[in-house]
Amino acid sequence: MQPFSYKKAGQAENAVALVAPDAEASYLAGGTSLIDLMKLNVQTPTELVDINPLPLTKIEMQGNGVRIGAMASNSDVAYNAIIQERYPVLSEALLSGASPQLRNMATVGGNLLQRTRCYYFRDTAFPCNKRVPGSGCPAIEGYNRIHAILGGSDRCIATHPSDMAVAMVALDAVVQIRGLKGERSVPLIDFHLVPGDTPEKETVLQHGELIVAVDLPASPFTKRSHYLKIRDRASYAFAMSSVAAALDIQNGIIRAARLAMGGVGTKPWRALEAEKALVNKPANQASFQAAANLAVAGAKPQKYNAFKVELTKRTIVRALATVGEMA
Ligand SMILES: Cc1cc2nc3c(=O)[nH]c(=O)nc-3n(C[C@H](O)[C@H](O)[C@H](O)COP(=O)(O)OP(=O)(O)OC[C@H]3O[C@@H](n4cnc5c(N)ncnc54)[C@H](O)[C@@H]3O)c2cc1C
Ligand code: SF4
Repeated sequence: MQPFSYKKAGQAENAVALVAPDAEASYLAGGTSLIDLMKLNVQTPTELVDINPLPLTKIEMQGNGVRIGAMASNSDVAYNAIIQERYPVLSEALLSGASPQLRNMATVGGNLLQRTRCYYFRDTAFPCNKRVPGSGCPAIEGYNRIHAILGGSDRCIATHPSDMAVAMVALDAVVQIRGLKGERSVPLIDFHLVPGDTPEKETVLQHGELIVAVDLPASPFTKRSHYLKIRDRASYAFAMSSVAAALDIQNGIIRAARLAMGGVGTKPWRALEAEKALVNKPANQASFQAAANLAVAGAKPQKYNAFKVELTKRTIVRALATVGEMA
């Protein structure tokens, strides 16, 4: 681990003023992603600015929707009564991730910005375009069972590992960001980037910008929602394939649909074409299967992860069927 200095920030503007001018400075939230990667020498910030004292932990109604502070812990969000009642898909996604101890430390902002679990990225003995731009991608010709089938490029095929972000992108979440020049809002669907030629650039955040909150709008489908995660172990494992599904059904007909996938895309993957195909269709197996086929139509499987195509289709059908059966 490289030496680093440590400061605490009490207010958002102080935190931004400390990190933005210093390219080697980094925010420290729960530390469950960053400290791991610092121990592996994958990330080597020379200054950590601890943002745990920031007053950004509230989860509260805002209009008809909900605002979640960026420093709310994953546990607090998962067990919050408003989230459980109005956005069950988010609670389920959070509770499917990591372990209770990790969820107590992990924050909303840090969860969105956690780095990929690609084993080549996490091992400095290997080249990796994401870690060292231009050095190569051993995953493409190597062992790529956990890698993406959607959104990859010839530079990088790493998946985004978050469960929470998959549920949030299905819920049309909006990220509130503070920088040196003030605040801005970015819909979560536009927040993460596909790798293209620059896999090292993972989000639209500029260096030093701070996530202050995530807003969840109110919608007719959010209560009828579900997160289904398929993984190698029943707990404490990242998704091989996961699905966040939400449906607004009236008299057996789907009026609105939300579908997003995890474990298969280079970013939390919203299946917009599949959603459109579900609208005005009966809520039955045939509609769900057609949507599942569309959701993976653009998949480009690698040597060791072709199983994810069929797995994802089945996960989508099961998740939609579960939502369809909700009262
Ligand atoms: C063993 C293990 C298993 C796990 N399993 C899962 C799983 O199954 N599913 C899953 O989704 N996740 C899983 N995780 C990942 C875990 O959810 C993330 O590590 C956690 O959410 C990161 O949050 P944090 O607050 O600890 O972030 P940190 O590690 O503190 O920060 C991560 C990054 O975000 C930046 N950052 C943090 N907050 C802000 C902010 N407000 N504004 C701007 N930048 C910020 C930091 O500078 C850093 O670059 C697992 C982690 C571990 C270690
Ligand atoms: S898939 Fe991406 S993160 Fe993994 S080795 Fe290739 S470039 Fe690096």
